[in-house]
Amino acid sequence: MKILLHTCCAPCATFVVKSLREEGLEPTLFFYNPNIHPLAEYLLREEAVRAFAQKENLEVIYGEYGLRQFLREVVFREDNRCSICYYMRLSKTAQYAREQGFQLFTTTLLLSPYQKLETIRQIGEQLGKEFGISFLYRDFRFGYRESIRLSRELGLYRQKYCGCIYSEEEALRQREEKEKSR
Ligand code: SF4
Repeated sequence: MKILLHTCCAPCATFVVKSLREEGLEPTLFFYNPNIHPLAEYLLREEAVRAFAQKENLEVIYGEYGLRQFLREVVFREDNRCSICYYMRLSKTAQYAREQGFQLFTTTLLLSPYQKLETIRQIGEQLGKEFGISFLYRDFRFGYRESIRLSRELGLYRQKYCGCIYSEEEALRQREEKEKSR
């Protein structure tokens, strides 16, 4: 079975790839993340995926950046931005998977305890129906700590915020608050 793995970043991919391989599935990575801001951060994450793929002998497909499209989709709908962000990334993944003859698609987003898994599951399954390809749902969160260990071991770049400009602001504000309360 050919499986296309939407890859948000290398650290999350470490454990998800390991887990899929244990199930007998050999994924192709699909790096498509128009949400990531700024471009310098995007390039760091892309480079980390490239390095990880080389180490693990994985094929990677790189999508276009697409920041303008992302911002057009979320502006004035910032409170609902994560659903839009999941939809954008997974629909492109499902479309590519369908066109290239994959039988399954899934995402490394399912590893993160900071993501909304139920929303991702619903969107993935809906897209699966639309594109006639199965969405493989797994709750990979039990592997989150292991992914941190693996990415440290491999010397991979680890980001400090989810990806978009809004999440960058939130993460910086939270760090500021933490420092003030010390
Ligand atoms: S917080 Fe993360 S998932 Fe939500 S919109 Fe921003 S980058 Fe996407």
